[in-house]
Amino acid sequence: MTAESPESAITAWLATQQEAMLGVLEAMVNTDGGSYDKPGVDAVGAIVQRFMAEQGIPVEVVPREKHGDCLKARVEGGEALNSGNMQRSIVMMGHRDTVFPKGEPTRRPFRVDNGIATGPGVADMKAGLVMNMFVLAAFKKFGGAPGPLLGLFTGDEEIGSPEGREVIEATAREARVVFNPEPGRPSGGVVTGRKGGVFSVFDIEGKAAHSGGNFEAGISAIGELAAKVTALHALTDLKRGITLNVGLVSGGQSVNTVAPWAQGQIDLRYVEPADRDEVMGRIHEIIARSYVPGTRATLTIRGEFLPLTQTPAAAKLFGMYVDAAKESGLTVTGEFSGGCADSGFTAAVGAPTICAVGPVGGKAHSPEEYLEVASLVPRAQAMARAILRLDRAGL
Ligand SMILES: [Zn+2]
Repeated sequence: MTAESPESAITAWLATQQEAMLGVLEAMVNTDGGSYDKPGVDAVGAIVQRFMAEQGIPVEVVPREKHGDCLKARVEGGEALNSGNMQRSIVMMGHRDTVFPKGEPTRRPFRVDNGIATGPGVADMKAGLVMNMFVLAAFKKFGGAPGPLLGLFTGDEEIGSPEGREVIEATAREARVVFNPEPGRPSGGVVTGRKGGVFSVFDIEGKAAHSGGNFEAGISAIGELAAKVTALHALTDLKRGITLNVGLVSGGQSVNTVAPWAQGQIDLRYVEPADRDEVMGRIHEIIARSYVPGTRATLTIRGEFLPLTQTPAAAKLFGMYVDAAKESGLTVTGEFSGGCADSGFTAAVGAPTICAVGPVGGKAHSPEEYLEVASLVPRAQAMARAILRLDRAGL
């Protein structure tokens, strides 16, 4: 009697797990958890912990103060052929937070209609988390992993990972490769490049005065804001993929007061890593300059994503994933996305990274967000097959 190979055992078991995956996904989607809702995001984490406990997979909790804790689930690997990489973890990561306001799962609970699942975070990215959980469970059951597997579950990606970033970067520095199952593109494609982004806020100080009786004593912070917004937007360079958007403004005290304060929030996106410092330098100049004499302004960076750029090792990982996906019945292409994700952090510290390998879905961050249920199993199989081929691919 010949033993079944881990690959056939794993893919055959995953093929039987769609209903079980939907059960876990339903529990996760129906658990509230916006990025600022630490108890909610930790409740989603408790679902992960319960599942792992049932599988006999240990989970380490890395506590975070304001946002969801980070969880690290570990499955030890067998012997690796590529011994230099043997100790490095094969990382599957994902975020548990969503962009939705509190109460959203009650208003819009998980549903499945004609093979389409809906509900807050169903594709972005609770389906990806479920996929990671079942792939970890499969390797735990049947063995065959070419090295240690690490599932990293974070809690604040949608706001730039202010507390998750250091855990993600430390994990990625020790990683052999990183899979990030953000939702697969509607085409079924994965993401091999992403823009970087910097979210910042500028505060302007002017001087209040009655705009009828004492106009000349006032210094308008709103006048300054208007000039700064125009100058900031002029830094946009679409050919280089650089965009600036002041997406939120506020300010002033009353209609008949020269505005003593104003605030704007900037979203900068860029493609080339070198452009980040150049454009930030120009933003700092605009903030430091007073277009309305007497105003003063400060700039604070609130969150940041680094771009995902394709290194030769990441290209190799992508090529290998395409083959693994083909054997799982999927045709996969690589796409560029203007959206940012945690994969930029892992790529920036040198870990070969592939993003959007999650189940296929779309319309993320909107009430129309959806998941193609039939993609759950094949995308999980594709990731498992890719992991099993790391040695052969020399990764
Ligand atoms: Zn996401």
